[in-house]
Amino acid sequence: MSANSRKRIAVFWASSCGGCDISLLEIGPRLLDVAAAADIVFWPCATDFKYHDVEKLPDGSIDVCLFNGGVRNSEQHEVALLLRRKSRVLVAYGACAADGGIPALANLVSRRAILDAVYHANLSTDNPAATEPRPLCAAPAGELHLPEFYGQVYRLCDVVDVDHVLPGCPPQAERVWETLKALLDGQAPEAGADGRVGCSPRTVCDECPREKKLVRVEAFRRHHEFRPEPGWCLLEQGLLCMGPATRGGCGALCIRADMRCEGCYGPPAGVADQGASMIGALSGVLDPASEEKAYALVSQIPDPAGTFYRFSLPSGLLKARRQDGGNP
Ligand code: SF4
Ligand code: SF4
Repeated sequence: MSANSRKRIAVFWASSCGGCDISLLEIGPRLLDVAAAADIVFWPCATDFKYHDVEKLPDGSIDVCLFNGGVRNSEQHEVALLLRRKSRVLVAYGACAADGGIPALANLVSRRAILDAVYHANLSTDNPAATEPRPLCAAPAGELHLPEFYGQVYRLCDVVDVDHVLPGCPPQAERVWETLKALLDGQAPEAGADGRVGCSPRTVCDECPREKKLVRVEAFRRHHEFRPEPGWCLLEQGLLCMGPATRGGCGALCIRADMRCEGCYGPPAGVADQGASMIGALSGVLDPASEEKAYALVSQIPDPAGTFYRFSLPSGLLKARRQDGGNP
């Protein structure tokens, strides 16, 4: 990494859990190389920057912005527009910015249902005046402005142009380092045909060390119910491993720890809908001779939407249920 001309880096955390910010620390001592090559000009999670600090920067003066999280409200939307304007390279960092992530499963319910659950119907909520947050209200000190809660979660690419998409929940540390190093060296990170970086054009199955015995699934099971046999495909043992419908790049991290792939790298290149792709893959492990048995097996799958679309609902064909307002 060249230290001749110092770069400027920004990191932002929108609608996500914070794991992506933490994942940056997983590159370990190489953070010292980043510190030697670049100044952090905005990272609210780690340092006390304000939005007006970013507004004062010249347009295009941030060399690399890592934006994690989806866009759920007007504040995140405004920051996305601001960072797009100020950044030369904007990276959708992690599953939520890339494909909506777990928060976007809320797209299956209406904005009204979320407000009801949080402010009214929750047993632990004491709200006799039925107060709800409003974008504008009067307070003793003057007008109070709050971000507007949108009707659904958007991917970063739904609201601004994105230069690179680095998937994963969170992105795997070696992939983060390769991408960051290339960007700080002023090079384009290696990208697949669809422009995604830090991942593989192949599926997690292609990276997986477990053997497929080409047997049919007899029952779907969950992790707490049994200990999987080493070396044998988890899906064939009845664990709903999303490996066949998930983009590789993580090195089959979870599977090497005896856990099924939950699909966090999103759909492989060329796949329009991760859930539909997984349903297609299931047809290969169900017994085609008995439709009744196949139906009974599929009926055992708990939370099918949350299983098949855990990280990628807005990137699929469905995206969200019809909403009752609140969209930008
Ligand atoms: S389904 Fe899962 S366990 Fe089986 S080969 Fe694919 S990634 Fe490995
Ligand atoms: S195995 Fe699947 S869930 Fe685990 S890190 Fe890789 S893509 Fe994500």
